[in-house]
Amino acid sequence: FSINSGELELHEELGRGNYGTVKKVLHKPTNVLMAMKEIRLELDQARLNQIIMELEILHKASEKSEYIVEFHGAFFSESCVYYCMEYMDAGSLDKLVNFTLDDVVPVPGVDEEEMTWTGVPEEVLARTASSMVKGLKFLKDELEVIHRDVKPTNVLINTRGQVKLCDFGVSGQLEKSLAKTNIGCQSYMAPERIRSEHEGQSQPAYTVSSDVWSVGLSIIEIAIGRYPYPPEVYTNALAQLTAIVLDDPPRLPDDRYSEVACDWVAKCLIKSPSERAGYADLLAHDFIQADEGREVDMAGWVAKAMRFRDAKQAFGKASKVMSAPTAV
Ligand code: ADP
Repeated sequence: FSINSGELELHEELGRGNYGTVKKVLHKPTNVLMAMKEIRLELDQARLNQIIMELEILHKASEKSEYIVEFHGAFFSESCVYYCMEYMDAGSLDKLVNFTLDDVVPVPGVDEEEMTWTGVPEEVLARTASSMVKGLKFLKDELEVIHRDVKPTNVLINTRGQVKLCDFGVSGQLEKSLAKTNIGCQSYMAPERIRSEHEGQSQPAYTVSSDVWSVGLSIIEIAIGRYPYPPEVYTNALAQLTAIVLDDPPRLPDDRYSEVACDWVAKCLIKSPSERAGYADLLAHDFIQADEGREVDMAGWVAKAMRFRDAKQAFGKASKVMSAPTAV
């Protein structure tokens, strides 16, 4: 569990979040690649000790679920917390599926079929949904933790095809020390959360059903390759939040996904939290039941998606996007 900076060899940056950067590092004594998140924090020793204690609990727990990113250890240095976790070598889902159907990358020498985005097959979507719900249920049942920040950026995937959650509020003290501002304009907040913030009431306790909403929204985003309330239509944050509260919820495109899949997502996105599905309902639903025991070539799909993503990054500027925006 104890990791110190001297044992780490810094590799490239993996991404940037609200609180700092995430870098790939090699833990030299064990030869294990890790992802290290740097969080800037000014804290006294008592608080630091409490955070370490809470993180130790997480460390033990994270080994028990294959649906949450394993925590390897943390250390403090010069007003920063360095949080080391399992390196997920295909990155986060938002960047992996951030394409519209028939999006093409003309890569010289590669046949067009391979370089045309064919979307996320239903079986892959079901496995992703199942993993997310199982991860969230584990956090709740075993750690009494509610995630509170479910979104595709916090769903990581690796080349073995495993889907895992990261960035859950495991350390109460660490969470309290971070100013929780909703940076970025894409909200995954459930309508009841937006309402209560807007009306300035004393916040009702955050419940798992608010996370269920975020799961539904994330699954649609993963399926269609973009945030379901598009910025072209909802041109500012207020318009977007208003739509979440007042409009009919978005749906999975029924021309590409089965009725069962669409129904599962619809049950996550019921606007009234008391009528929204719970984790047990979601896991018992045919969409997830069909996934149990089904052979899904997740690794093959991840490899293909990574080739597309990486080609897009390298050749993206020259590409043409052919599809019209998908209606939701
Ligand atoms: P945010 O604060 O927006 O939730 P993070 O700081 O958690 O974002 O992560 C920023 C980016 O770093 C992610 O989008 C992801 O691409 C990458 N990343 C985070 N954790 C890992 C990990 N364990 N393995 C690989 N990449 C990661």
